[in-house]
Parts: sequence; C-alpha cells; structure tokens
Amino acid sequence: MRRKLAAGNWKMNGLAANLTELDAMKAAAAADKVDVLICPPATLISRAADAAAGSSIAIGAQDCHANASGAHTGDLSAAMLADAGASHVITGHSERRVDHSDSDADVAAKSQAAFDAGLIAVICLGESLAQREAGDTLDVIGTQLAGSTPDSATAANTVIAYEPVWAIGTGKVPTLEQIAEVHDFIRAKLVARFGAEGDGMRILYGGSVKPGNADEIFAVSNVDGALVGGASLKASDFNAIITALGNA
Ligand code: PEP
Repeated sequence: MRRKLAAGNWKMNGLAANLTELDAMKAAAAADKVDVLICPPATLISRAADAAAGSSIAIGAQDCHANASGAHTGDLSAAMLADAGASHVITGHSERRVDHSDSDADVAAKSQAAFDAGLIAVICLGESLAQREAGDTLDVIGTQLAGSTPDSATAANTVIAYEPVWAIGTGKVPTLEQIAEVHDFIRAKLVARFGAEGDGMRILYGGSVKPGNADEIFAVSNVDGALVGGASLKASDFNAIITALGNA
C-alpha cells in the first residue's frame, strides 16, 4: 500500500514572512492521512524546517548539485540541503531542464547524489505540448524515466512526478484518461525495472492542480498524490488539496 503524498513546490517565491503559511498547513497535515512536503526556496529551508519541527510536514529542496562538494559557485550539494533540514529534493523539474539544460543524465546524477546524502528524490518527467501533439508522449516519458532514474532507486528513496510541461502554471490540465495512460505506463515501466520496489514508488501528478480539480485527479489509477506549484503557496488552497488526497 503506497502512502499518498501532497508535495508543494514554492519555486522562486517566499520570504520569511511567508512561513506563516506553513504554520497554517500544520492542522491539515496533522490529520495524518497523507504525507505532506513543502519545498521552499533554498534560503528558507532551514527556517522552514524549524517552523515545521514537531509537525508532520517534511521540508524539501528544489534542486541539488550532482557533486558532494567543490568549486561550483552558487550551487548547493545534497548534503548541504540535508544539513539545512531537507529530507527531500526535487530533481529534473521542467523549469530546471529548460532554464538550466538539465539532461536525463544530469537528473540521474543529482538523484544519486540525493540518495547518497540520505534524501528522497522527487524525479520529475513531462512532455512538451509539441511532443504531446506529435503523439510522442509515452516515448518521451519512457526515455526520461529510464535516463533520469538511477539503478539504486527504491520505494523509500524515490518519488516520480509526472508533470506535463504544458500544464504547469497554465491552468490547463490533461484529461483524466491522459493522466491515467501516463501513470499506468510509468507504473508498468517501474515494475519491469525495479520489481516490488517499483510497485512501491509513489507517482505524483503535477500541473495546475487546484482545490477544484484535486478530487477527480486523485481518483485516477496510479495517482499517489500531487506535486503542486501555485496552489501550494497559500495554506487555504493547499490544505484543501491535502484534505482531498486524504479522502481519495
Ligand atoms: C510545479 O511547479 O511543479 C507545478 C505543478 O506548478 P503548478 O501547480 O503551478 O502548475
């Protein structure tokens, strides 16, 4: 039985004052029906971890470097993120793949670095609109999944997030059939490669999840939760998503 996960990605949003939102999420997280994760900007990880202490909210980072240390100005290693209080790190988000040219091999190396530092990697995959319209979605997802997931991935250290690029921050959401097709495909690939561990890995859907569409998305097969951007910034929205996931 996979425990559901509601994960929030604050992206480049949030100052210390916004940690009051985290406080306001504690009550929804305390229902303890699902796991709850917030990934604030790196500047807030330490303070967010302090703010979440004693609650069931886990804190994650949004990216890490593949190396453990070294001459990489401006970068952060997975060990540094763990030291700051993170338990998870997002790898391969489409905004990193596009803005920073992260390849599948880079994502696999970052995910391995996360495992080595004791972090759980939330590995993101997703097709562009052009790829979907060309009928290439499953090929793209299969290639990204194979290339971005280290051989050492387990149900304990890996979460997969399917995030169609065209649905992120746009208000556009795939049909439930389209979500089911991709999630079932990812599950089959994970089981073929990792056996029982692959069956235990959570697969999140991400892309314009809101309180108004969460119920129907969470009812789709092999959707084990959500990676939420915009709607994770406000406790009023994210709490409704946590509750919907708990009721799914
Ligand atoms: C995301 O950033 O991973 C995301 C899914 O964003 P949004 O929910 O805003 O579409």
